[in-house]
Amino acid sequence: MSDFHGVVTLVAAKEHACCECHSVITKASQYDRDFGAMDGRGFSYKTCLPCASAREWLDKKLRQMNCLNADEGIKFGDLHSELVEFASEERFLGVESLRLLLDIAQRRNDAGKFQGEGS
Ligand SMILES: [Zn+2]
Repeated sequence: MSDFHGVVTLVAAKEHACCECHSVITKASQYDRDFGAMDGRGFSYKTCLPCASAREWLDKKLRQMNCLNADEGIKFGDLHSELVEFASEERFLGVESLRLLLDIAQRRNDAGKFQGEGS
């Protein structure tokens, strides 16, 4: 098996959608591109930098708590639900998890408004 994973920070040559909050990554702004292969299938995900740093924070927390094995990670697209779960286990008293959760909720809400336009 040749599973691998890499991440690079790129400057958008055109608009993309963030795989976590679905907001628009505007042309010329920076974003993270995760790429690799898992179980023989290639993958590529684009993430806006605020979501990328939220994922990094949560990933570190979960590893500290032994909730993630070395070869595991937060599934792409699941950051919001993982943050909800983490924050609820802290009984919504963790300042940082709550802040990250509110931030991603706001971006998702804004992205939803854009998608709703003109339809
Ligand atoms: Zn995002």
